Amino acid sequence: MQVRQNLPLRSLTTFGVAGTSARTLTLERLEQLDALIEALAGSLPFILGGGSNVLFARDLHEPLVLVRLKGRRLLDDGGATILLEVGAGEGWDDTVSYTLSQGWFGLENLSLIPGLAGGAPWQNIGAYGVEAAELIETVQAVHTGTGERRTFSTADCDFGYRSSFFKTADGRRWLITSVRLRLSREPHPRIAYGEIQQELAARAALAAPEVSDESADPTGQPAGSPSPQQVAAAVRSIRRRKLPDPASLGNAGSFFKNPIVSRDDAEPLRVAYPKAPVYPVPDAAHVKLSAAWLIESAGWKGFRDGDAGVSAQHALVLVNHGNATGPQLLALARRIQQSVHDRFGIALEPEPVIVA
Ligand SMILES: Cc1cc2nc3c(=O)[nH]c(=O)nc-3n(C[C@H](O)[C@H](O)[C@H](O)COP(=O)(O)OP(=O)(O)OC[C@H]3O[C@@H](n4cnc5c(N)ncnc54)[C@H](O)[C@@H]3O)c2cc1C
Repeated sequence: MQVRQNLPLRSLTTFGVAGTSARTLTLERLEQLDALIEALAGSLPFILGGGSNVLFARDLHEPLVLVRLKGRRLLDDGGATILLEVGAGEGWDDTVSYTLSQGWFGLENLSLIPGLAGGAPWQNIGAYGVEAAELIETVQAVHTGTGERRTFSTADCDFGYRSSFFKTADGRRWLITSVRLRLSREPHPRIAYGEIQQELAARAALAAPEVSDESADPTGQPAGSPSPQQVAAAVRSIRRRKLPDPASLGNAGSFFKNPIVSRDDAEPLRVAYPKAPVYPVPDAAHVKLSAAWLIESAGWKGFRDGDAGVSAQHALVLVNHGNATGPQLLALARRIQQSVHDRFGIALEPEPVIVA
């Protein structure tokens, strides 16, 4: 197992903020787990995957563990579904592309989400009407204090909106080593999301002369229904249009969760701003508000203070224009929270992990 002292943090997160990790351990193989647990000697490490959901606002004094466990294994290949085990260090989007190329469907709406597979259950990633929890069968993890290895069922994972057991104080003790995904051999495109429908319609209009070729679809789906590959392509192009690419502009995607509030708490907003988006959630006593709408309406879209800013493309995305520090981005996030609260009485909760 590789151990490095005083490693710069800048290239380890998509925000690209400076910082130093006092001691960094890189886990590449399961056989290194015992050595890792021994090296940690009971201390609570910070576990990092692709660094696309983290803001470091200080140097790391605790051990940093980089999870680089690779490998994909087909565990069950019978009938209408398959079970695929994915090492926590595999790229998430690579995994989506791989499964589509094999004719295993379900992940298409989660295309182009940065990060590694181990990060997916951690916050139950979701996009365009699908959450990872719907496809995850189990999560394999090791306790960083005791070395206990355990398989978590979806019930154990306690998935919720951008949340799971692994996000809790107890959960942070567990290092996810792999994720098992139950995928379908039958395409079941999930296209209820308006943006996907619009994108698919626009693509179909452009490709109109070729429609007859595509109707001879190898997946055998009904004519007119988009293939999972087409849904993935639509999601990719929407995301490329809407979200800044971390390779050219540091960011961690949506910086705030969409607030879920009681219907009573949403009522003053609804009355004062009839155009404010309000979405139903399974619990009928609550509704989901659009954090992007709240931030944009409070005037923050495109704002910049030095190198810390809010994307001009998407009000939910905080960006590092070059040399913003973690504390500067955090200060900006707090100003936005305060301003949205003062204006609309709604509390915004950050989505990325903030190490401050
Ligand atoms: C441009 C952009 C778009 C994004 N879009 C979306 C989106 O649509 N939907 C969405 O849900 N998210 C989105 N994200 C956020 C992010 O990509 C996901 O949350 C991703 O799953 C994080 O994975 P990661 O490997 O980068 O995790 P990291 O950022 O490395 O870690 C995030 C947290 O997970 C924990 N963690 C990571 N790996 C492990 C492991 N193996 N064991 C235990 N704990 C672990 C870390 O300790 C940390 O607390 C976006 C981010 C960016 C930059």
